[in-house]
Amino acid sequence: MEKSAWNHLGGQMGNQPKNRAGLPDHMIDISVTLSESTVIYPGDPLPEYGLIFSLANGEIANVGYLKHGIHHGTHVDVPCHFIPGAPTFDQMPASHWIGSVLVADMTHVERAISGKDIERLPLAGVERLLLKTQNSLKYYKLPQFTNDFIYLERSACEAIVSAGVKTVGLDYITVDPHGSPDFPAHRTLLGHGVCIIECINLENTEAGEYYLMCLPLKLEGTDGAPARAILLEKGFQAFR
Ligand SMILES: [Zn+2]
Repeated sequence: MEKSAWNHLGGQMGNQPKNRAGLPDHMIDISVTLSESTVIYPGDPLPEYGLIFSLANGEIANVGYLKHGIHHGTHVDVPCHFIPGAPTFDQMPASHWIGSVLVADMTHVERAISGKDIERLPLAGVERLLLKTQNSLKYYKLPQFTNDFIYLERSACEAIVSAGVKTVGLDYITVDPHGSPDFPAHRTLLGHGVCIIECINLENTEAGEYYLMCLPLKLEGTDGAPARAILLEKGFQAFR
């Protein structure tokens, strides 16, 4: 077993510019790259990627494996993450992850997004909402977890629920302040069936309307799933 050898397999795909990932111009990759150096939530198991068989060892193929938490990198949280007996990932409709989305500029927020910040947004008819904060601009560049990230106050979550939003995304690993004993943001959102997308990077995304293609792994019975998330710019047509 060759841990980390995976990183050295080479090939062109590894050389794509970050956040473009070889995508056409009208697509924005808002996913975080997964590796052993991806910043994770304190206490989570360390991610491990490696090779079970390798060409360098004279074996017939490179065969990789990965071992990491469901909440590593870009991922979704579903109600059973915090609410006993609530739906698991596979019981939530995929419409939570795919469809029109509003990216809201919250880069003015200094510490936490409040109910007033949410109430100012044009949320009529908005089912998916992604919040761009200073996290995307500052904290993804840090090599370790920081306690200083922008999080969601309980009042913000209540406003999100009241507005009828079905899925909310934040650009850090969690929506609650680190060290919070009762996780009010998770409990308020998930307790009302609002799903969460965490650890998206909106550094290269301007506020506005997009089409969200967030594709979590098709896991059974879990409290969430790692995901690839891409925004399609408004007016995008797949066939032309
Ligand atoms: Zn999570």
